[in-house]
Amino acid sequence: MSSPEVHRADVIVIGAGIVGAACAYRLAERGLDVLVLEREHAPATGSTGRSAAGVRHQFSDAVNVQLSAASIAEYRSMPRADYRAIGYLFCVPDALWEAQMRGVALQRRLGARIAVLDTNEAARIVPVDANGLRGATYCADDGVVDPHGICMTYVERARSLGARFAFGAEVRALRRLDDRWQVAIADGRASAPLVVNAAGAWAGRVGELAGLDIPVGPARRMVFRSGPVPNSLRGSRPYPMTVDLANGVWFRSDGDRLIFGLSNPADRGFAEGIDWPWLETTYEAALLHFPWFEQLSVDRRASWWGYYEVTPDHNPILGRMPGAEGWINACGFSGHGVQQAGAVGRLIAQEATGEPTDIDLSTLRIDRFGQDGRGSSGDSTERLIV
Ligand SMILES: Cc1cc2nc3c(=O)[nH]c(=O)nc-3n(C[C@H](O)[C@H](O)[C@H](O)COP(=O)(O)OP(=O)(O)OC[C@H]3O[C@@H](n4cnc5c(N)ncnc54)[C@H](O)[C@@H]3O)c2cc1C
Repeated sequence: MSSPEVHRADVIVIGAGIVGAACAYRLAERGLDVLVLEREHAPATGSTGRSAAGVRHQFSDAVNVQLSAASIAEYRSMPRADYRAIGYLFCVPDALWEAQMRGVALQRRLGARIAVLDTNEAARIVPVDANGLRGATYCADDGVVDPHGICMTYVERARSLGARFAFGAEVRALRRLDDRWQVAIADGRASAPLVVNAAGAWAGRVGELAGLDIPVGPARRMVFRSGPVPNSLRGSRPYPMTVDLANGVWFRSDGDRLIFGLSNPADRGFAEGIDWPWLETTYEAALLHFPWFEQLSVDRRASWWGYYEVTPDHNPILGRMPGAEGWINACGFSGHGVQQAGAVGRLIAQEATGEPTDIDLSTLRIDRFGQDGRGSSGDSTERLIV
């Protein structure tokens, strides 16, 4: 029996989603020999291909604002990102008003253009029954992108700099030997002194293969797509990504339809397919402040599902892994990896080459999770929304 081929590289990136592709590009840009190992037969087939594609500056902690702002700036000048500034509108109940205003102050300090609206002003953007709402916040620079286009741009840029992509290359075992990570893949082996774990919802499982505890797990999320929106409900411009902080329901225009959803905090693990009974719960949540949802049908064939890659505090895990030489995490984005990948690619390349990082990663390193595994309180809006 012939021995399997061994691929050697300076760095192995596990996963060819938007994060792995961005990392591969920025690592190759620094002159490293990069090998990307992807289980599937094409890039962007994991969460990247299933997202709602929203990008926003409106986060309640600084590092998330910085990661998204830097990525949005990059996507603005990337033709295939197809950045469209349709805005994000957060509808805010009384109980959350003060916290939201603290967020606005922070976002403005970091340069984001955020408007604070009363309910009448909000209703001019999206028809809303404001009962129980104090007001809204709106950022016209937030919007949507094409995650697939971004991922393919990074793949092409990485390839043009010499990075290699192996598809159908599931990582099955990992161990550290002679200062290198030895990686068993579906039909061969690979080795490199550095590994970047960009395996999305499977990042915890990939960690386990190396005997590492990386607290990232899957949480299934549904995106329901409506039938055509009746003319009486259509405004002069698309509905922005609209999030009701009273219960977390969200929606936005998608051509002549809406897409909408609601996180189910109990939906954990690798369950597959659309949870149709959850549609009823989602409708009920939407009707609270948007009674016109009653007029919308659902296009069952055009709806979809995917996995968030969730950490205990809903913030990503970035940077080197203490006690595991040569292991770098780029995972756990908890539902906002599309809007952070651009910045993350650069930060991970800086971390890999020992440069100081543009954005302080100290609150996102894995050692924030103490022995109880819970970590910090994280971004307060992230429990609810896309
Ligand atoms: C319904 C939904 C809505 C979302 N909406 C938004 C949004 O509006 N805005 C936003 O910013 N984000 C959103 N997200 C989150 C976003 O999609 C993810 O954070 C992002 O795609 C993560 O990218 P990634 O490259 O880390 O993961 P992925 O795209 O999942 O890529 C990981 C890759 O690793 C591969 N892999 C796994 N295990 C192995 C292995 N053992 N060997 C080799 N390869 C392996 C997988 O096949 C996969 O291709 C949403 C997600 C979902 C599901």
